[in-house]
Amino acid sequence: MKVGIMGGTFDPVHYGHLLAAEECRRRLDIDKIIFVPTGEPPHKSGRKITPAEDRYAMTLLATAGVLEYSVSRTEVDRKELTHTVDTLREFLDTGIKPEDLFFITGLDAMLSITSWFDYELLPELCTLVTVPRPGYSIKNIDKLPEIIKQNLKVIEIPQFAISSTEIRERARDGRGIRFLVPHLVEIYIESAGLYKDL
Ligand code: NAP
Repeated sequence: MKVGIMGGTFDPVHYGHLLAAEECRRRLDIDKIIFVPTGEPPHKSGRKITPAEDRYAMTLLATAGVLEYSVSRTEVDRKELTHTVDTLREFLDTGIKPEDLFFITGLDAMLSITSWFDYELLPELCTLVTVPRPGYSIKNIDKLPEIIKQNLKVIEIPQFAISSTEIRERARDGRGIRFLVPHLVEIYIESAGLYKDL
């Protein structure tokens, strides 16, 4: 059973993330994709992050009804700072083999991997997967350490110039987010009054 871990802040989750998950699932023949919203990301100290419970709820709503998708609370529930190595070890402890485990995230996050805690251990735990996004060149992958490059798969997806940042700004300005996020996520953002003051 091949498992893909979709790691992200998901503030909020949007169709770009879902498109990336689905394309990786198909191309790598992954059986199950587990979305793992971050808890309290240490590297995001500059911006107020939406409470983890809201980001978790939106991720649940976005993936509801897709049999191959699920959402994990592991980082949301962790009291201490969250590190990807710990998350991957937790999944390996459930019996998944490293060769069947994939960690998927966006290219801009992947390009900062050398700042992640114990990043050099990640290739032993999983295959790293990244999806390019507009504005970030895959040529920058060349600058990553050899140990990461050898383990990294790049999956091209239809380029959809959308980001959580832009969605938050649109929600704040009342510019509408319909068709950028799943309908239930749009309703959640409105009814919870998220992103009113960024
Ligand atoms: P993020 O803000 O969630 O995402 C960074 C970029 O990647 C954004 O452009 C984002 O797009 C995109 N993205 C996020 N998740 C994606 C996904 N699953 N598929 C495709 N694109 C995705 O980044 P982050 O907070 O840095 O975290 C990304 C992952 O790296 C998390 O799982 C996090 O735990 C891990 N990480 C670990 C450490 C560590 O171990 N110390 C440090 C940093 C990051 P949007 O802005 O549109 O979401």
